[in-house]
Amino acid sequence: MKGLKNLYKWGKKYILYIFLIIGLNALLQWLYSYLPLFVQYVFKLLRNEDLNVNLPKWLTNFYDNYTDIIQVILIVASSMIALQAVRSILRFINNYLTGFLTEKIANDMRINLYDHIGDLSYTYHNRVDTGDLIQRSTSDIDTSSGFFSGKLPDLFNIFFTIFIGAMQVYKINPTLMWVSLIIVPISGISSVIYFKYVYRTFKRIEDLESNMTTIIQENVNSSRVVRAFSNEKFEFEKMDKANKSYSDSIQKFSNMMAIYWGSSDGMVMLQYVLTFSVGIILAKQGLVDVGDITACLLLMGMLIWPIRGLGRIIAEFGKTIVALGRIEEVLEEPSEFIDNGTLMPQINGNIEFKNVKFKFDDDNKSLLNGISFNINAGETIAIVGKTGSGKSTICNLLTRMLEYNDGSIKIDGIELKEIEKRYLRKNIKIVLQDPFLYSKTVYENIGITTKAKDETSIHRASKIASLHDEVMKFENGYDTLVGEKGTTLSGGQKQRVAIARILVDESPIIIFDDSLSALDTKTDLMIRSALKNKDKKQTMIIITHRTTTAKEADKIIVLDNGTISQIGTHEELVKLDGLYKDLWGIQGELEEEFYSLLGGEF
Ligand code: ADP
Repeated sequence: MKGLKNLYKWGKKYILYIFLIIGLNALLQWLYSYLPLFVQYVFKLLRNEDLNVNLPKWLTNFYDNYTDIIQVILIVASSMIALQAVRSILRFINNYLTGFLTEKIANDMRINLYDHIGDLSYTYHNRVDTGDLIQRSTSDIDTSSGFFSGKLPDLFNIFFTIFIGAMQVYKINPTLMWVSLIIVPISGISSVIYFKYVYRTFKRIEDLESNMTTIIQENVNSSRVVRAFSNEKFEFEKMDKANKSYSDSIQKFSNMMAIYWGSSDGMVMLQYVLTFSVGIILAKQGLVDVGDITACLLLMGMLIWPIRGLGRIIAEFGKTIVALGRIEEVLEEPSEFIDNGTLMPQINGNIEFKNVKFKFDDDNKSLLNGISFNINAGETIAIVGKTGSGKSTICNLLTRMLEYNDGSIKIDGIELKEIEKRYLRKNIKIVLQDPFLYSKTVYENIGITTKAKDETSIHRASKIASLHDEVMKFENGYDTLVGEKGTTLSGGQKQRVAIARILVDESPIIIFDDSLSALDTKTDLMIRSALKNKDKKQTMIIITHRTTTAKEADKIIVLDNGTISQIGTHEELVKLDGLYKDLWGIQGELEEEFYSLLGGEF
């Protein structure tokens, strides 16, 4: 029932087109049902039998004007050609409409799904496999949209064809009609059983296919890592296993199809033999003649076609219901903007965390247990702490990628949950540790998030990010293509493109999520002092492992075990026993010494 509801949901907008296509198909079948009657007429004419054929009266009257039998046969043949010509035109219109309908529905599905995927929460995207999502957005959409224009009219055609064919046979002889319909209930019952099997099997096949897509996608994305660790054999075996399970399921399904189609073909042959035998008996009793039997057998061909095609239609129907269900599963995921704020206040950059607690849904232990701190607009704070201590989570809470369970976060005195999410994210920019560059030029990559893409602001941002001089050394300067198809930039260069990108539009709050650690200490320092000396002050949160980076901050927050274990300036914290002093002792002093030996500024 849910599957049918899904079908209706996507089809209702085009219901007129669907009915038009179904109507055209019915008309095509109806016209086709007259072809055997012309043959019947000719047979009767040649055998001098009674010419009571169910052709339109005006047509048989027209044939009666001619006495020469050859002339009549030629005219009947011309009528058949004319009928086929009309059918060809109708078939053309039908094919045009089906193509149009398929694309319209596929387009609607793609847009809806793509739009919705963009609105799904950070947690959802962390949870699902990309390969599976891609499969739902591509092949599941193709399967579903194709059904509306292809197999759905075919499904209706089955009923029309059986009805129209049976009516024509009825007019020839009612007994023959009942005999020729014996197959209908048998194939009806077997098709219901077959549908259940197809539905179950396709669900499994789709899961196996998306698992395989995920493996391929992961392998392509991580080809460097796989090679570096000589992990090809392991990856191949993983793919081989997934591929085998997928192939086995397809093979099992093909076997089942072969059994169903083979047995339905057998039933069809039995039906032919039965109708033919009953026809002979009726002819012997003088109730029908040769012309009638010939027409009946030709009409049987028409009746039998949909029954033979039923297996294919059911398979497609099952596939479509599964594919539509998979699309619907994504669409039913609630958008992260359901729980959105409405305020769009001027943001200056004052941040206040008060007893903030956070726990992941799938975790039984809280990650943050009452975090409190203040940052004044224009200040720089550093967050340090062990891996997994919740540093990135604090930033994700601030941008509402995750929602805090308890406590309060305020920006310029306004509760975060009151602020509209997209507006908030326009005002708080994050540079991630592993930045993503588009397959575009360096210039476009820097300017991608802002509408003010003038050269001056892009060059200015690039200079602050210590990138400009290096880009100018490239053969094509800012027009150098980067990303998948272009020049491969070094990790540090990529990082700086990402930093320049967020500096272009001068958001009041910027977060560096462990993104400065990928740079050498000197570049890191240059960027930070350029940021410090800017006219427009921005609030900066720097997550770092490097104490020499943290040292420069106005305030350092040390996270440990879900709480803030220390908070203060570098000078204050190095005097106190604790994690910061230990860290500084291990790396900071060493690094400072190292740089002073090299004669570098620090
Ligand atoms: P940090 O930035 O300090 O390294 P994170 O804030 O990234 O730490 O992560 C904190 C902890 O939360 C880690 O132990 C991580 O494994 C865990 N974590 C991250 N995402 C999820 C999730 N969706 N469900 C459960 N735990 C998670």
